[in-house]
Amino acid sequence: MKYIDEFRSGKAAGRLKEEIAAAAAGRPMTFMEVCGTHTMSIARNGIREMLPAGMRLISGPGCPVCVTPNGTIDHAVALARHPGIIIATFGDMVKVPGSTSSLGQERAAGRSVRVVASTLDALELARNNPEMQVVFIGVGFETTAPTIAASIITAEQENLNNYSVLSAHKVVPPAMELLCRGRVAIDGFLCPGHVSAVIGSSPYRPIAEEHGIACVIGGFEGLDILQSIAMLARQVAGGDSRVEIQYRRVVRPEGNPAAVALMEKVFRPVDSVWRGIGMITASGLVMRDAYRRYDAAVRFPVTVEETKEAAGCICGSVLQGISDPRECPLFGDGCLPETPVGPCMVSSEGACAAAFRYRVSRRADIGQMHDA
Ligand code: SF4
Repeated sequence: MKYIDEFRSGKAAGRLKEEIAAAAAGRPMTFMEVCGTHTMSIARNGIREMLPAGMRLISGPGCPVCVTPNGTIDHAVALARHPGIIIATFGDMVKVPGSTSSLGQERAAGRSVRVVASTLDALELARNNPEMQVVFIGVGFETTAPTIAASIITAEQENLNNYSVLSAHKVVPPAMELLCRGRVAIDGFLCPGHVSAVIGSSPYRPIAEEHGIACVIGGFEGLDILQSIAMLARQVAGGDSRVEIQYRRVVRPEGNPAAVALMEKVFRPVDSVWRGIGMITASGLVMRDAYRRYDAAVRFPVTVEETKEAAGCICGSVLQGISDPRECPLFGDGCLPETPVGPCMVSSEGACAAAFRYRVSRRADIGQMHDA
């Protein structure tokens, strides 16, 4: 238990809170976290309530399910309706509403939609159902893409011809660069820890060096996040903008070259649509020509319905840090975790889900972190 307690010390949190206030010295500062796990930890630990007046912490497009546009959900729905296809997907995607349906609704209507815990399960599904085609819905960032690339290589090695992937992968740095030119003035990014464990720190250098925005790659415990914010505040107060790693116990500057090589072997960058943001250059991943036979979009040319957005949902604005989830008129009323209108309320890492889940238990000081 000591390991866990080290990251939840109220005394350490108090010290960091003072460090942040001293570094900021009353200057207004806006920091954006770009990782759904950070979003949840910030809400769970009441981090926003510990920050000094004038310092804002806003959520960005850090949840892969949330940034997946309706068109991709509609495509998955069309594939689910195609005879002979089993859809394999992570659980979060089942409830995400598309234009007129969701994978959950298709499952309720008798289509074969299976929730899997990993691509290993999806491959096993293909091996056990040779008369069916298994399509895995590939949603995720650089953290997920290498494992999905590995599944495609495994399918090739096993000559498993009934396995393919609908690739909706996205890569994070191009979206962050776009936000640097967006409507919200951002002083610093709390960069995603898991993604950075794969890509390392160098992809953020243009953000720091060309856009002058401080970057700190942070861990996920409450104290990790407070320390990362203190590092960001010191950079901004000192007129500095560089990439620092707080999460050193996991992230190396060079990342994980083997995982990156695997991803680059199977996928190539492509322009991709992000929900609420639009098309971002080179921010998606599709299969290279050598692996196109594992691309479900190529293998099954289904007709996808015309995309419609959910009336009243402001997920796009939430994902760019322009709006707080509580500003959505549907928040907690028409839109609830059990009956979500938009993906930010569906995903376990969505900003709306985090704001809803912790709205009651949110505490206004460091009292929720206990002393070891
Ligand atoms: S509360 Fe629901 S409807 Fe509103 S932005 Fe969030 S997900 Fe969309």
